[in-house]
Amino acid sequence: MKILLLSSPIVQLDFDRIARVPNLGLASLAAHVDDLCTVHVADIHGLKNHREYVSRIVNSYDLVGLTAMSFQYNEALALAAIAKQAGAETVFGGYHPTLAAEEIGNSLDAALIDYIVRGEGEATFRELVASKLAGKSPQGILGLSYHEKDAEASGGERNRMVHNPPRPLLSVEEIRMPNRDARLITKGFYSFDVPIDCVETSRGCTQGCKFCSINLMYGRRFRRFSIERVIEDIRDAEAHGAGSIFVPDDNITLDPKRLERLCQAIIDAGLTHMRYKTQASASGIASSKQLVDKMGEAGFDGVFLGVESINKRNLEFLGKGKMSNDAEKAVKYLHDNNIIVSTGLIGGNPDDDEEDLWENFKLARRLKVDFPIFYISTPYPKTEMRSELEEMGLVTNSDFTRYDGLHANLKTKHLSEEEVQFITWQMNARYYDLQWLRYNKVKKLYPKWFAGEMRRLAPFYAKRKLDLALGRRTARDFFREDLASGELCKGVI
Ligand code: SF4
Repeated sequence: MKILLLSSPIVQLDFDRIARVPNLGLASLAAHVDDLCTVHVADIHGLKNHREYVSRIVNSYDLVGLTAMSFQYNEALALAAIAKQAGAETVFGGYHPTLAAEEIGNSLDAALIDYIVRGEGEATFRELVASKLAGKSPQGILGLSYHEKDAEASGGERNRMVHNPPRPLLSVEEIRMPNRDARLITKGFYSFDVPIDCVETSRGCTQGCKFCSINLMYGRRFRRFSIERVIEDIRDAEAHGAGSIFVPDDNITLDPKRLERLCQAIIDAGLTHMRYKTQASASGIASSKQLVDKMGEAGFDGVFLGVESINKRNLEFLGKGKMSNDAEKAVKYLHDNNIIVSTGLIGGNPDDDEEDLWENFKLARRLKVDFPIFYISTPYPKTEMRSELEEMGLVTNSDFTRYDGLHANLKTKHLSEEEVQFITWQMNARYYDLQWLRYNKVKKLYPKWFAGEMRRLAPFYAKRKLDLALGRRTARDFFREDLASGELCKGVI
């Protein structure tokens, strides 16, 4: 049996210029079946003609795996159609297929999907592959959705999709090291201008933010890999060409002491020449200056900070009411250690008016955040937030291709969908100005990348400024243009 695992080719264009990271989950899945069959991973999100690429290689595979978040799901279906046409079976996994498995099973999409591996995939996928090799039915494989082919057994309903009970999580000792040798595409992954790979150190989160899907995938559990395994994995990533490591843990700062120990282990292992980036909660980072100093010493130079909002009402709505609001302290600790700070700031909450949205902009400016991302609340399927917003009649759009955190799919009690989108676009447009040029840390840490971006964007910005000055175009014109192209963070007004 030959298996091909495909990453999603759909990316957020604005982020892709800063970082393009290979898919760790697929390399981990590959590691759990590589003793049973031939398995390849194709990280196709950097390819211009990904459909042609898939068409070209798919013929020799028996089973094609696809992963998708909500905004990537439609393209995954298009690739599944290519795979089915070539005679392969398809297996879907990831957030959207997991959370929407029942709806997918009852829809026409199910014709393109033979199996859905729900939740944590490694053990379920391995059992599926083993059962296929043994010619056995997938009945009884926990966490799997599949087509019941036997008309008799399914009560006369032909080919319906059945959903086996969920699978309990693995203990971390059962999770194998990722198989990076399974990758077919090894070039084109970077953070700024340094080759990058992913290394996970923990899985899951015990918090209950209403907008987040992590709990729906993993429950409120936090599992830690051993520090020895993490160090071995970093070495493996380096041996495969990485000079930079992205740690994609759901909430690495849930255990600040452990993160500090991990940083010490990186130092002791002589791995501080690598550049580390991660995502973390503001409260976790603010909880210990000693931790952040150690992160700096270990080689961390970029942290995406989940600030979300400083507005108490909005923190309550987002389910962050009990979390401390330590954005200021966290950003200071990170900047003191020369660490680039990106922040996620969420607007478009039910009571937000224009002033509330701009609050996030002012906060980012005051803290001199290097890359603030002004997100818009997104009512992802099955989340508590979606139910609440639906009840309030505020969800305006269920086209999941726009569920990427940057598009408005709701209105507030005071603002229409278009106004939420327009104000957020203005915030992104105005942030990257001369003030930002002066204080951002990126230009010091990655001067070559920064100069290249400036050269690339300068003519674009100059033309927009001129068009505005001459009255040839308006800010709304630029907004609509960016909305159509999907590049919502690059405006200039
Ligand atoms: S802290 Fe982060 S990972 Fe945990 S539930 Fe909230 S948003 Fe999700």
